[in-house]
Amino acid sequence: MELTILGSGCPSVDIDRYGPSALIDCGEGSRILIDCGSGVTQRLLEHGVKGSEIDALLLTHLHSDHIVDLFQLIISSWHQGRSKPQKIFGPIGSKKYLEQLMNLWRPELEQRIAHEKRPSTKALNIDVTEIDNGTLMKFKGLSVKTVEVLHQPVKKAFGFIFENSQGKIVISGDTKFCPALIEAAKGADLLLHEVFIHNEMPVIDGIRTPQTVKNVASYHTLDSEVGQIAYLANVECSC
Ligand SMILES: [Zn+2]
Repeated sequence: MELTILGSGCPSVDIDRYGPSALIDCGEGSRILIDCGSGVTQRLLEHGVKGSEIDALLLTHLHSDHIVDLFQLIISSWHQGRSKPQKIFGPIGSKKYLEQLMNLWRPELEQRIAHEKRPSTKALNIDVTEIDNGTLMKFKGLSVKTVEVLHQPVKKAFGFIFENSQGKIVISGDTKFCPALIEAAKGADLLLHEVFIHNEMPVIDGIRTPQTVKNVASYHTLDSEVGQIAYLANVECSC
């Protein structure tokens, strides 16, 4: 089981950091994409994996920076020859979001389907499963369990625990300090945890007020806390 960080950025545009996304690759087993931030399809290709080869997409939450390239993943996977529906797992609201997203693009898609005569349109069928705390998902050679994390005012946000015979990897998603996530990560081989770095988000006149920085920091994990989380969870490795 291998974890690749495809993007570690945030809504701010950055030429060095793409939007949040990660790939869990089990070799002969499943390839699972977590979140779908800006640039995800290019980063996948750079890594040698086509979006069309993804078995499932898991969404930690529905913040825009985590889902903004979802349609790009769907359309480019179709163009790469995907011949099966997209499987997507996400919090409540995911079904409605995908329905509205596909409806928004329907006129363009119908025109393309009629004109381009590609061999299959199955890649444009979206199979959405809504998850909650403790949902267990089974994939070939891999099980994934959800843990609800703390990202209020976002109503539902999740971390994921990936386990198979090769080990245990935990991804926090966006959260402030979260005891349930620490408990879920106990003994993991690898913990990928989000972090808010104050130096990277200063108050700037006309862009961010002191209240903006305070409020954004309040639903993330501070850089002064993240090391303690790795220690409390007793993980082999954290990043
Ligand atoms: Zn978020």
